[in-house]
Amino acid sequence: MVSKRLMEIPASGTIAISNLVSQMKSEGVDVVSFSMGEPDFVTPDNIVEACCASLREGYTHYTPSLGIPELRKAIADQARAEHGIPCDQSNVLVTPCKQAIFLTALAYIDPGDEVILSDPSWVSYEACIRLAGGVPVYVPTRFEDGFVLDPAAVEEAITPRTRMIVLNTPSNPTGCVMPRDSLRQIADIAKAHGIKVLSDEIYSSIVYEGEHVSIASFPGMFENTIVVSGLSKSYAMTGWRLGWAIAPADDVKALNKLQSHSISCAVSFVQKAAVEAITGTQEPKRRMVEEFRRRRGLVMDLMSEIPGFECNVPQGAFYVFPKYNRGIPSVKLAETLLREGHVAVTPGTAFGPGGEGFIRISYAASEEQIREGMARIKSVISGL
Ligand code: GLU
Repeated sequence: MVSKRLMEIPASGTIAISNLVSQMKSEGVDVVSFSMGEPDFVTPDNIVEACCASLREGYTHYTPSLGIPELRKAIADQARAEHGIPCDQSNVLVTPCKQAIFLTALAYIDPGDEVILSDPSWVSYEACIRLAGGVPVYVPTRFEDGFVLDPAAVEEAITPRTRMIVLNTPSNPTGCVMPRDSLRQIADIAKAHGIKVLSDEIYSSIVYEGEHVSIASFPGMFENTIVVSGLSKSYAMTGWRLGWAIAPADDVKALNKLQSHSISCAVSFVQKAAVEAITGTQEPKRRMVEEFRRRRGLVMDLMSEIPGFECNVPQGAFYVFPKYNRGIPSVKLAETLLREGHVAVTPGTAFGPGGEGFIRISYAASEEQIREGMARIKSVISGL
């Protein structure tokens, strides 16, 4: 029997669907997958070459648990230059982004502590909070407001037990890019109440309208924030599992203690490749973002032809989160789309109770797959 802690949390909704899709494909079913938030591009050549070279040079051993110095410096330099985060390499721990979230939860949440997060939010925040013994407190956001998290609602949700606020901008699953002013207000609230912010900025390079603002860039806020990010989405490096946490030195020390007792360090030759990703040409990244922008336009056009679907234009990331009016639970709709249309989407409720009545479509897929998959969705929906 597994621990009570584990028993209480569901399996990851995104990963469960992706595993099911892999299984169906291996059985010969022609599935179009819009389930996983994973770019279909291959990792740019310069990064692959840097990895191969470091392997050939025998760079195959443990590294310092914090990460190699040149990578920590590259990460800090980029965060400072692009997002105004006042950090240097002593503020960086190299670890996969999901691991950074997990470590943060374990390091800062005690049993009974409350953690505020937007509803809907990415699936694994709630799981990490619960695994640490914490209590997720969802603050509803509204389709009509473009899913922007309202600072007044955040403040209202604060109790003496509140330990942390989780932010994710641009957002998975909604594509919302939090406006500067709302973030500034949330920063003021967090500071006034002495509450830590976990800011997941993994989609920070994938912004089509507006600007990405890091809450850690506001005066006095870096001291209160743990920023997590990584290479998966912006450099098409999901399988490399390389990310980081940027935080005040004491927090880095705390996270590093957990890192040294868990994965020891990030993969050595992947860290070398990551230095090239961050300090080498940024042209492939720019091209991929432009391609995502084009696909966003395509998916929005095709969506407008599906009866009963309504959708905000996402400003960032690579997801659309349409509302549908068929009156069936989102899990049921996702099942029906997969069973009858062989097209995989993620049910809205995988992202919290506020996701009911929505599905998430990841458009990090080829144009051909987008056309085919959207046609299948239209055909199944039209028959319901
Ligand atoms: N973050 C991606 C998604 O939401 C990958 C899967 C996961 O980490 O949950 O689809």
